Amino acid sequence: RAKRHGKSQSSTFDKTMRQEALNTLRTQMQLREAIVRQQFEVYYQPIVSLASSKLTGFEALVRWNHPKRGIIGPIEFIALAEETGLIVPIGQFVLKQACTQMAAWHAKYDEAKDVSISVNLSGHQLNSPTLVAEIEAVLAETALPPSAVKLELTESTLIDDPTSAQRILKRLRDRGIQLYIDDFGTGYSSLSYLHRFAIDGLKIDKSFVDMVGRDDRKAAIVPSIVGLAHNLGVGVVAEGVETRDQAQTLALLDCAEAQGYLYSRPVPQDQAAKLIERKILG
Ligand code: C2E
Ligand code: MG
Ligand code: MG
Ligand code: MG
Repeated sequence: RAKRHGKSQSSTFDKTMRQEALNTLRTQMQLREAIVRQQFEVYYQPIVSLASSKLTGFEALVRWNHPKRGIIGPIEFIALAEETGLIVPIGQFVLKQACTQMAAWHAKYDEAKDVSISVNLSGHQLNSPTLVAEIEAVLAETALPPSAVKLELTESTLIDDPTSAQRILKRLRDRGIQLYIDDFGTGYSSLSYLHRFAIDGLKIDKSFVDMVGRDDRKAAIVPSIVGLAHNLGVGVVAEGVETRDQAQTLALLDCAEAQGYLYSRPVPQDQAAKLIERKILG
């Protein structure tokens, strides 16, 4: 039986493989073009204090404004951008754009004085020898205080090359830039890196936050991470908060900050400005 179907199956398989390879290649070419044509945009998702519901910051999240397909989210292109190294110029753009925008908001709104900007940093960027100089240049150009900038790194990024990462992160932190671990709890985290890297906070991954008020076993992880952050004396942000119940439970646990659709989806800069004017979200 295997023999009878063998041929047609394998040619269908080849066809699918070829189609996929072609798609990847096409997207890769389009990504390169998108960089040249400046088709990337930064969206902003608010982060709030759970105690007061006040806006404390925004996370900058990249979007690809494709001429034919419209706004495309990062799940569709970040992995490819990472593989090809194109994440370096894309990330550079996001950093510069987000810091420039935040500096403009600081200048325009009194209520934005303590609002920070969080930017995701990929492993490629961390390995780039010009990273520190680029960040210095952006800070100098925008006059944004370094303490208003938070860089988000995943556990895997840190573990890839711990010695080099440690050195670069120390330089950034010495400048006053804050460092947060993104998607905390999902990586192959050996907790030992937490004391090797001087960090300023943890972001609890949405998959754990989702279980709050639902799956008790998994939900037990959330208080543990909050407690860990407290014991380390670092900040803690819950990601992907969608319900009032979750926010309430997290507030009772003394989780400092939250981010999620309950407050707002990531929005373009004009809508983000409106959120600054509103001050209290949720
Ligand atoms: P992340 O850094 O963990 O960002 C949070 C993601 O969770 C965002 O997805 C955000 O829209 C989503 N999110 C926040 N709250 C909720 C919620 O309540 N419900 C649901 N369902 N989702 C929520 P987004 O914008 O699609 O970004 C996905 C990932 O792409 C980011 O995860 C980050 O890893 C990566 N990414 C985005 N922008 C950049 C960038 O500029 N540079 C790099 N290196 N990576 C980026
Ligand atoms: Mg992030
Ligand atoms: Mg995250
Ligand atoms: Mg993520």
